[in-house]
Amino acid sequence: MKILVINCGSSSLKYQLIDMQNEEALAIGLVERIGIEGSILTQKANGEKYVIETPMKDHQVAIELVLDALKDEKHGVIKSMDEISAVGHRVVHGGEKYAHSVVVTDEVMKNLEECAKLAPLHNPANIIGINACKALMPSTPMVVVFDTAFHQTMPESAYIYALPYEAYTEHSVRRYGMHGTSHKYVSDKVAEVMGKNIEDLKIITCHLGNGASLTAVKNGKSVDTSMGFTPLEGLVMGTRCGDIDPAIVPYLMKEMNISAAEVDTLMNKKSGVLGISGVSSDFRDIEGAAKEGNHRAALALDVFHYRVKQYIGAYSAAMNGVDVIVFTAGLGENSIASRAEICKDMEYLGVKLDEERNNVRGKIAEISAADSKVKVFVIPTNEELMIARDTKELAF
Ligand code: ADP
Repeated sequence: MKILVINCGSSSLKYQLIDMQNEEALAIGLVERIGIEGSILTQKANGEKYVIETPMKDHQVAIELVLDALKDEKHGVIKSMDEISAVGHRVVHGGEKYAHSVVVTDEVMKNLEECAKLAPLHNPANIIGINACKALMPSTPMVVVFDTAFHQTMPESAYIYALPYEAYTEHSVRRYGMHGTSHKYVSDKVAEVMGKNIEDLKIITCHLGNGASLTAVKNGKSVDTSMGFTPLEGLVMGTRCGDIDPAIVPYLMKEMNISAAEVDTLMNKKSGVLGISGVSSDFRDIEGAAKEGNHRAALALDVFHYRVKQYIGAYSAAMNGVDVIVFTAGLGENSIASRAEICKDMEYLGVKLDEERNNVRGKIAEISAADSKVKVFVIPTNEELMIARDTKELAF
């Protein structure tokens, strides 16, 4: 059985065709610049790269090209569309309605539209992707997998903000959390690697990419997570500020004479390690600049690491201890220096990293010292596989 996984952004689309027999990706692709000049599709399959550069006016055209690329005689991996048994779609926000993935129905589509105002940057693109696929593959079952679903187990005390209660009841303002598919995947995987039952573990999962979040996973359930009503809260990120004093928002609007939309852009696109360093939003560039003596680059990394450390402390407190800390996503899987900095001076908690074991990138590894009370792991995330598994389970 082959399952197509689609992750639609506003002008991009990531996809994978996964063979569920061995859970291997047959093809991995990325379409960029949909609806703007310079549209390009890049697919990796059979150990080679296939590039199509042609105008793509919308997501439907892009998905048509994806299907063509998958079927391509020379570069493709399937002969006909019938080989695609089901499609799994990543959707960012499922609101409070969805604690699990669901099969796409008219009612689900209606609910997704309703959730769109909670994630105006993401859900509309996800919906466009589903509709485009439905138009091209009307009889293929489709499933949506939500980024927020895993966090629906959080207790009220973790998700209610101390605003007038009506902000929650009338305006749906609460913590939802994101990256749920990744946090679930790596927490399940680390339990499997350790040969333990997840029900017996207290895990802190650190998804550190351009967007970054931490989750406290107790007995297999998310009990707290650092992203909130939107993906802006929590850690310092590539371009997002994470936690700040909320009074800064009206203050800056007045001082800089900027609108709500402009302050939103400032916090989402111009802040984070980019804002502090002035160098880049890419951690590799910042690490490079810091090594060359750039003070603001070094400061950006310090602020980032310090915030992660604070959250690890907070989530240990939330769970009355921690058994294992997991690092994942671009930075978590690859930055040896960041993992070392974050785990430094954590003897109080029983965390001791092994320098040699930590010298690893992008693969499953235990990086804590043999006598570390708390185990530390690198676990590469695989959100696409998680989506494909849910799709297989629900669609048939
Ligand atoms: P997203 O999916 O949120 O865009 P990723 O999980 O792909 O993000 O992570 C991207 C981030 O990971 C980038 O900021 C990049 O600098 C960082 N990264 C990737 N490889 C390394 C590395 N070897 N050292 C440091 N940072 C890295």
